[in-house]
Amino acid sequence: MNLCNGSHIVFIGAGSNVGDRLQNLQHALEMLDELPLTFVEGVSGIYISEPLGYTDQDWFYNAAFRLCTGLTPERLLSYCKRIEVLIGRPADHPRWGPRVIDLDILLHGDTVCNLGHLTIPHPELHNRKFALLPLRDLADPVHPVLGKKMHELLESCSDRSIIERSDHTFIKIR
Ligand code: ADP
Ligand code: MG
Repeated sequence: MNLCNGSHIVFIGAGSNVGDRLQNLQHALEMLDELPLTFVEGVSGIYISEPLGYTDQDWFYNAAFRLCTGLTPERLLSYCKRIEVLIGRPADHPRWGPRVIDLDILLHGDTVCNLGHLTIPHPELHNRKFALLPLRDLADPVHPVLGKKMHELLESCSDRSIIERSDHTFIKIR
């Protein structure tokens, strides 16, 4: 039975490199699951990755969540930003800098959009191992623009940064 009938399958990428990084990811998972018209139906492994951009910052924990949601991409983005602030990320955070939590909409069904403040699929998805590896864990979806699965995009990905799967797992939410 497809419990997501009438809704969209969405993949959210999550990262944290400030504070209790695992707890920040866990809180994001729980808050996403509590959004209207939404439940989390899958979680990836938890990865530890070296920072890109400013390298003088702590390593990241990264993961992805598979959601079933009736929310539009724009409503979901505004909820993601709200969750980031609630977990402790200042609304005017510097780009590329350390972050308590970062939530990105990587894929939203087969939606393709470029609205300036919102691009789906996420424009950097195919360039970042820390986004591709967790999505490969979650049934390896097809990228609707590039027409390739995550494991294929990993093969051609030029990202040479270090990333490892950690032994940590999420606490079950139901
Ligand atoms: P990044 O995630 O690229 O490291 P930010 O989290 O600071 O950086 O995001 C900057 C802006 O990117 C957000 O304010 C948001 O409006 C925009 N954005 C565009 N597309 C997306 C997307 N698919 N998911 C999340 N944010 C997005
Ligand atoms: Mg972001």
